[in-house]
Amino acid sequence: MNVFDALTPLAARRLRTSVVSPFAQAYWDRLNDQGYARSTVRLYLNCLAHFAHWTSRQQVNLSALDRHIQRFVDWHLPRCRCGPSVQRRRPSMRAALGHFKIVVTDAGVLRDTEPLSQVDEQLLRFDRYLFQMKGLAASTRRRRLPCWPPKLLHLWPPQIPPPDRGLIAA
Ligand SMILES: [Zn+2]
Repeated sequence: MNVFDALTPLAARRLRTSVVSPFAQAYWDRLNDQGYARSTVRLYLNCLAHFAHWTSRQQVNLSALDRHIQRFVDWHLPRCRCGPSVQRRRPSMRAALGHFKIVVTDAGVLRDTEPLSQVDEQLLRFDRYLFQMKGLAASTRRRRLPCWPPKLLHLWPPQIPPPDRGLIAA
């Protein structure tokens, strides 16, 4: 079956006119080969179509796919105004885009592993300090660090251990 026939005309158009398009058939094949239920395949395809729609309005480089997905999930989804028909649930979106990352990688697209600059590392250290020593929540820290660079969005919120409550109270 052609992947574009499995979608509504709007979702198929969004998928077909994006950087995601060359991988769409392999994506659909992968999900079916792995035995996913038809409803799950349709759900994930609609998630991918939403991501595809978003990429058409961004400068998306597939070698930096991790960062783009993180930005889409953490920044776009909470503010999404793409219309009532798009998928917005984060768990489904993360699962769907996880499969997409595998398809893109299997196709030979190399992922960007750009090293962090000194400023980036200082921002990460400062954020860790605000979290571990001051006990600030991620939403508060994000407001306090509006200069958080887009290339670090994949690190947000940073994967750091929870604060030691005894240390903070001292
Ligand atoms: Zn949207």
